[in-house]
Amino acid sequence: MTQLSRRTLFKGAAGVAVAAALPALRATAQAAPAPWVITYSRKLGDAEVTVLLDGYFLLEQAWVTALDPAEIMEGLTLAALDPGAAVPLPITATLIRQGDTMTLVDAGAGGSLGPTAGNLPAVLSGIGVDPAAINRIVLSHLHPDHIGGMLAGDAAAFANATVHVNETEIAFWTDPATETALPEAIRPWFTLAGGVLAAYGDRVTPFMGEADLGGGLSTVLMPGHTPGHSGFRVASGVEQLLIWGDSTAVASLQFTHPQAGIVFDTDSQEAAETRRRVLDLVVADRLLVSGTHMPFPGFGHVAQKDDAYAWVPEEWKLF
Ligand SMILES: [Zn+2]
Repeated sequence: MTQLSRRTLFKGAAGVAVAAALPALRATAQAAPAPWVITYSRKLGDAEVTVLLDGYFLLEQAWVTALDPAEIMEGLTLAALDPGAAVPLPITATLIRQGDTMTLVDAGAGGSLGPTAGNLPAVLSGIGVDPAAINRIVLSHLHPDHIGGMLAGDAAAFANATVHVNETEIAFWTDPATETALPEAIRPWFTLAGGVLAAYGDRVTPFMGEADLGGGLSTVLMPGHTPGHSGFRVASGVEQLLIWGDSTAVASLQFTHPQAGIVFDTDSQEAAETRRRVLDLVVADRLLVSGTHMPFPGFGHVAQKDDAYAWVPEEWKLF
């Protein structure tokens, strides 16, 4: 894999820390979390976009790349977070309802991250959405916190949905040579990705690069976090939303320091280049955006600030 020879995944001391922590990230059944139903809905033209809180995970400071500890502490202090603690990041999925079509963007962690996440089934049930009524699922990438909820046991949790994933992403997570080249602690991620693709079989529809998926939904290639990582542009009427997946995932650090990555990035330099390109686009086009790990509910805009950026949360729509 040329991507791996350029910059090896999880290298250096931080990689060791991740490898030590990863055994907890297994695609095994966990005790059911205490159910909660936390959602936020917003109209977008004729569509209704609902952010569903699957749960959260704690990002260890040692997993942040390209920042020194003082910069991390300063960023967390400015964000009024505990500067000495791991960074709590929400995990969300997004439901888009338009006409007769229900599209789910990412599917939460399922049992892959333990009891702080994997609540998507309870959330869907709580808002009266039958998983079997979801027509299609679009996946930003195949990391566990985005696809663990695709499965109920070994079976597809969504009986009737087509599944859209970037073809480079599929190739990466199904390549035995890539799996062998990576730390053994990552193997469960490959197992989970393979299990999801197998469970959905010929309902998986790969897309290439920037594709029109129909119904006002198109894909935007945002590689680096993973090779085929993709965002989604949602257009309805005159309104647009860019769902950027994990292209910016740590709001307290990556707007002020867009070079900062996390050790889960397949290629941290490419991820940083993508982040700047996407943030520049969002600023220039004044786009409304949302992302899997943005502070809940995660809708907002981006402002240019000095050499970097600032997150501008969207105020609650009262009408
Ligand atoms: Zn993620």
